[in-house]
Amino acid sequence: MYDYDLLVVGSANADLVIGVERRPGAGETVLGSDLAVHPGGKGANQAVAAARLGARTALLARVGDDAHGRLLLDSQRAAGVDTAGVLAGGAPTGVALITVDPSGDNSIVVSPGANGRLTPQDVRSAGGLLQASRVVSAQLEIPLESVVEVVRSLAPGSRFVLNPSPPRPLPAEVLAACDPLIVNEHEAKVILDDTPAGAAPADWARALLARGPRSVVVTLGAQGALVASADGVAQVPSVEVEAVDTTGAGDAFTAALAWRLGQGDALTEAAAYAARVGAAAVTKAGAQESYPTPEEVAAL
Ligand code: ADP
Repeated sequence: MYDYDLLVVGSANADLVIGVERRPGAGETVLGSDLAVHPGGKGANQAVAAARLGARTALLARVGDDAHGRLLLDSQRAAGVDTAGVLAGGAPTGVALITVDPSGDNSIVVSPGANGRLTPQDVRSAGGLLQASRVVSAQLEIPLESVVEVVRSLAPGSRFVLNPSPPRPLPAEVLAACDPLIVNEHEAKVILDDTPAGAAPADWARALLARGPRSVVVTLGAQGALVASADGVAQVPSVEVEAVDTTGAGDAFTAALAWRLGQGDALTEAAAYAARVGAAAVTKAGAQESYPTPEEVAAL
């Protein structure tokens, strides 16, 4: 009945990375390594992660009519993502300028560029894609009013998953559609307006659920995750791995969770699979480059 297991509505960025001995201060110039350019952005990352797992995946995003936009389209297509919904033009492709020092600490400047021009009208024009998708996943690296339009355009019976990153307070209409809302500790605090919800992650999960989403998932890095719904709160065990680079682990987790929910898994079951995918993603450098195939997940 649905053409796509998962539609990701979100950002696509070129990550421009330079290694430095020391990150520059105000007015300072430092010399760094050769430039490395990687496809990134939470939307693009999620789409690649899902497609690599075997999900029939489409991406609704906006890039510039430029070389970075082509790089992003190429990486999506190489992973098997349907890019008919990727719009081009209106502004340069979004870019993250990243300097990393030898200790791994980084400084990042993001230019949202074309991501900021993915409008509610663009979402309405992609109504066919939305109607053809079993699960729709979004993040907040595109305008919030476009996410609101996504919620209004969902097919009856399809499922909406949101990772509110970068976090900001959410309208009740968006919260009510989330099944689940997926947050890490920092995002949970912002969504709860820093209202003390108790010390334990289970308390945040309950407090978030009280804000209106149908279900909540709190990711806890190496500690795994928590799921919360009308059935109560459950811990999802982490998978012990040698962490090399955690970049993009949350995006892989969310993509895997969204896909498995659409395939009929219960929330705890889908989150357990997603935790394996997130763990696999931290065992390799990079974001999209680190995303596992089903065979790699099974071999963990
Ligand atoms: P974010 O990147 O959004 O902060 P997390 O760091 O919580 O998200 O990672 C998302 C998921 O990836 C976690 O819930 C966990 O399942 C998995 N994960 C992340 N880091 C590790 C790690 N060091 N070891 C094992 N699993 C991890």
